[in-house]
Amino acid sequence: MKIGFIGTGIMGLPMAGHLLSAGHELQVYNRTAAKAQPLIDKGAISANTPAEAARGADIVISIVSRTEDVLQVLTGDDGAAQAATPGCLFIDMSTIDSVATEKLGKELNTMGIEFIDAPVSGGEGGAINATLTIFCGGKAENVERARPALECMGKKINHMGPCGAGQTAKACNQILVAGALLGVAEALAFGSKKGLDLHQLIEATSGGSAKSWQLESIGKDIADGNFDPGFMAELMEKDLGMILAANPTDENFPVTRATIERLQKLMAQGDGKLGTQAVYQTFGSSK
Ligand code: NAP
Repeated sequence: MKIGFIGTGIMGLPMAGHLLSAGHELQVYNRTAAKAQPLIDKGAISANTPAEAARGADIVISIVSRTEDVLQVLTGDDGAAQAATPGCLFIDMSTIDSVATEKLGKELNTMGIEFIDAPVSGGEGGAINATLTIFCGGKAENVERARPALECMGKKINHMGPCGAGQTAKACNQILVAGALLGVAEALAFGSKKGLDLHQLIEATSGGSAKSWQLESIGKDIADGNFDPGFMAELMEKDLGMILAANPTDENFPVTRATIERLQKLMAQGDGKLGTQAVYQTFGSSK
C-alpha cells in the first residue's frame, strides 16, 4: 500500500519503520523534519506538509500528541484532508478525546474520506517490538481494510465498536495503567524508606498476586534511577485530564483524580517531560 504517515515521535518512528520494513511505500511528514530522517534514509519519501504525505495514499496514519494536534494535521491548513484521494482511509492512532473523534469522523466522511480511531497501548517497547495492543473504533469494513497495516505494528487488533469506541477503550486502559502506576510508585517509595532493596522487592512481589507490567517495567526504571521518557508524564496527564474534563463533577474517578494530582505536581516542578515513572519522585524519593 501507499501510506501517508504523520508524526514520527517516540511511538511513530518505530511504528512507521515496521510499515517500511513490510514493503509498504511510505510518505512521511514530521513537524520537526530531522526526526523523520531515519525513515528517509531507509527509503521513505519526505513530505513537507501533512497534505503532501496524504497525496495519492491508500491510507493515512497519524500519531501526534493531543486532540488539537490531530485536528490540525488532518483537517487544518495543509492538513491531510486537503489532498487525500476520495475513498482514502484515515487511521488516527494518537490518544485523544472520544467525542472530538466522533465529530472528526463525521467531518471526514462528508469530505469522502473514511476514518477509524486506533489508539494503542504497550509503550515505546511495544512500538519498537511491534507488539502493540490496538483499540479500533469505526466501521468493521474499515477495520478490516486497516488490518494489514495495523498487524505490522501490533499483535492484538481489537474492534471495540463505532467511531470513538477505540478512544473510550483507551481511556479505560489509562485508568487501569494509572492505578497500577500509582500503586507501584507508592509501594516502592515506602519500601525504599524502610531500607528494602528495590530490585529484590520487585522480583519478590512479582512472584505473587501483585505482578503487573507497571511493576516489572516501570518499577525497574524506578529501581535503576532511570526517569527518561518511554511515555511522558505530561501525556499521561493529558489522557487522564480528558476523562475528568468529560466527567467534571463525577466522584467515581478516584484513581484518575489521585494520579492526575501527582502528575501535575511533577509538571509544576518542570518535570513533565520525564517518564511516568517519575511520579515516584512526588513521594519524596529520587531513587
Ligand atoms: P512524542 O514523542 O512527543 O511525539 C509526538 C509527535 O507528534 C511528534 O512527532 C510531534 O512533532 C508531533 N506533533 C505534535 N503536535 C503536532 C502538531 N500540532 N503538528 C504536527 N505535529 C505535531 O509523543 P509519543 O510518545 O510518540 O506519543 C504520541 C501519541 O501516542 C500521543 O497521543 C500519546 O498519548 C500516545 N501514546 C504514547 C505512548 C508512549 O508510551 N509513548 C503509548 C501509547 C500511546 P515534533 O517532532 O515536531 O514535536
